[in-house]
Amino acid sequence: TKFSDLALDPRVLQAVLEAGYETPTPIQAQAIPHALEGRDVLGIAQTGTGKTASFVLPMITLLGKGRAKARMPRSLVLAPTRELAAQVAENFDTYAKHTKLTKALLIGGVSFGEQDKLIDRGVDVLIATPGRLLDHHERGKLLLTGVQIMVVDEADRMLDMGFIPDIERIFSLTPFTRQTFFYSATMAPEIERITNTFLSNAVKIEV
Ligand code: AMP
Repeated sequence: TKFSDLALDPRVLQAVLEAGYETPTPIQAQAIPHALEGRDVLGIAQTGTGKTASFVLPMITLLGKGRAKARMPRSLVLAPTRELAAQVAENFDTYAKHTKLTKALLIGGVSFGEQDKLIDRGVDVLIATPGRLLDHHERGKLLLTGVQIMVVDEADRMLDMGFIPDIERIFSLTPFTRQTFFYSATMAPEIERITNTFLSNAVKIEV
């Protein structure tokens, strides 16, 4: 398989080729076609497998040309740490550079003011750590009822850090009809329980 064989938005494909990638990694080759068909994806994958692009590329393609409303992000990526969230944001910038999609990065250690401004303007993709996301929600500055696509990255680390109740709360604030991409390196019983509760007929991919 080549990236050009996948049904990616041509602007996304161009950015991927400009980044120097022609051939998808196994998780990308397996996840992207199902994601583009609208399926939920459960990816059992470690860092270094190319898992970030396996959700960012279909996410950009699926968001297409819609416009975000104020305070209502159209998609949401949750990562366990500031560093990981920032990496996802960098990937998004690389692959969305030929689109007009907007993003905001919500992580701790940064003042709320700048983040509030971005959210108020309307963002297509919100990339966040769970605690900071819920802080914004509880301050009444953010609505998750417009989320069409939600990603949970590195769920096993979320579990280690005690974020599972936050993740469940965030899932429950998003529409039941959302599409979900869920990634974990391992399937602990707590993780299995969450995927059974919040994923719908997911394609399971192990690399
Ligand atoms: P990740 O597992 O998402 O952290 O990605 C690991 C590394 O693989 C990153 O440096 C990516 O830029 C790189 N990468 C992502 N997709 C590909 C690909 N199809 N071919 C080669 N490298 C890739």
